[in-house]
Amino acid sequence: MRNRLYIISGPSGVGKGTLVKLLLKEDEGLALSVSCTTRQPRAGEKDGVDYFFLTKEEFLQRVEADGFLEYDEHFGNYYGTPKSFVREQMKNKSVILEIDVVGALNVRARCGEEFAPVLILVIPPDEKTLISRLKGRASEDENALKERLARAKYELSLKDQYDYVVVNDDLLETAERLKEIIAAEKEK
Ligand code: ADP
Ligand code: 5GP
Repeated sequence: MRNRLYIISGPSGVGKGTLVKLLLKEDEGLALSVSCTTRQPRAGEKDGVDYFFLTKEEFLQRVEADGFLEYDEHFGNYYGTPKSFVREQMKNKSVILEIDVVGALNVRARCGEEFAPVLILVIPPDEKTLISRLKGRASEDENALKERLARAKYELSLKDQYDYVVVNDDLLETAERLKEIIAAEKEK
């Protein structure tokens, strides 16, 4: 048995956050990776819990020092997965990383040899269900919804590059499927 890095990706609203919470609650051998960001903390966010908050200079120094598994820019701020944090966690636990498809493929391309990530794509049963989950979350206006659906189509088009594709229809069944994948990959 060995500790592994599981990367969970999928369209916004598909249920990643909900599934990851369930997995973490039930398995003490799993930890969630904490990313670095240059954006300002929101009310209630804690450094080292929600993100490691860095200045732009600190972030770019880490980029220079090859300190990230992957990084990207969103809405004018940098976000990245810190190598040292993931390495440290993996001494004791398997680590879950929830990042987008591009980030996941970057991890495999840049650090596949050291971290040997298991790539899992969570997809909705169909588009109608994804729309209703996004609407149910009530955080989207019509434009944001359209953008997220276009993005979802792009993410689904890359599914052949994933190790596992899991349809999130029934929540508990999907969580079980993810537990099976995690258990099987630990033995490899
Ligand atoms: P993501 O993290 O992928 O953006 P969330 O975990 O926030 O998605 O889930 C989006 C919404 O869909 C939430 O309201 C969540 O409760 C709901 N949801 C997640 N999985 C399921 C499921 N299998 N069946 C029904 N609703 C679900
Ligand atoms: P927010 O500022 O709302 O917390 O996150 C903005 C975006 O940054 C989200 O789409 C989120 O998935 C993405 N993000 C968060 N952490 C990372 C990371 O470590 N790497 C990459 N590539 N994106 C991230």
